[in-house]
Amino acid sequence: MAYNIAIASGKGGTGKTTVAVGIYQLLLNKYNYTVQLVDCDVEEPNDVIFFEGIDKVWQEDAVQMIPTINTDNCDFCRKCADYCEYNAITLIPSTQFAEINTSLCHSCGACLVACSNNAIGEAPHKIGEIAQFKGHNGELVQEGKLKVGSPMQTLLIKQLKKSVLLNSEINIYDAPPGTSCSVVESTIDADYVLLVTEPTPFGLHDLKLAVNLMDDLKKDFGVIINKAGLGSDNIYQFIRDNNVDLVGEIPFSKSMASYYAVGDLSNKWPIHVEQSINNIAEKLHSKVTLHERNYHT
Ligand code: SF4
Ligand code: SF4
Repeated sequence: MAYNIAIASGKGGTGKTTVAVGIYQLLLNKYNYTVQLVDCDVEEPNDVIFFEGIDKVWQEDAVQMIPTINTDNCDFCRKCADYCEYNAITLIPSTQFAEINTSLCHSCGACLVACSNNAIGEAPHKIGEIAQFKGHNGELVQEGKLKVGSPMQTLLIKQLKKSVLLNSEINIYDAPPGTSCSVVESTIDADYVLLVTEPTPFGLHDLKLAVNLMDDLKKDFGVIINKAGLGSDNIYQFIRDNNVDLVGEIPFSKSMASYYAVGDLSNKWPIHVEQSINNIAEKLHSKVTLHERNYHT
């Protein structure tokens, strides 16, 4: 039974990808787990950029089934439009026009149930792509990429999660930034969630939202403060006041920022950054060990 770790952040730019890739490499190479990295940041997936010598081994379209109206069978009774909670159906009887707005439709199926004239069918509509990448040293990355303009992040993440291979010991879900439905979908199955933040007023504001979300979801979670040493101490006060588990701090490093800018996080971490990520990976290793022990007893 895989141990599922989600890595989330209330806001973008906190270094979530750095943490996800860093932890992934250590759990794979130092602790010898079979680990799958699942890039759920579907609007802007970029985890795979930070792996050297990794190849795409398959890709498939992610589709949403969208209803279609056959106007030959339609008597424009409007029952389907009345059932549609998302105002996705336009009917103009005078011109015999019937259309489903693919951006608004949530594929709930209510209109299909509503229509008694057999006028509604379904057709696949592409919302993005799901791909799998494999590296020469056992690296395995699944990635969802949303079609530009599609609002179906959550549906794509659902489909991405279904494509995750079942034989890994650990799955790491790199969630999108924020606290929206797509973050809920990326973290909902996690045994443990790491919230990556930074010691700035923006970081604190969004961390509060993320902590509230984790409490609502009743998730076991901890916080990593990235770019530690910058900004103020207010975030530490919040963590203390709310008994939040501080899993680790990654010191701010200018050279780290330059490596990130050229897509290279593999082997050139400054020693103090490497030590911090090592400490975090070690804590996760303890959690995975405990999970495995509980599973087998
Ligand atoms: S419920 Fe069926 S028949 Fe009525 S307007 Fe909708 S598609 Fe047409
Ligand atoms: S499937 Fe649901 S959301 Fe889509 S058009 Fe039909 S009723 Fe509306």
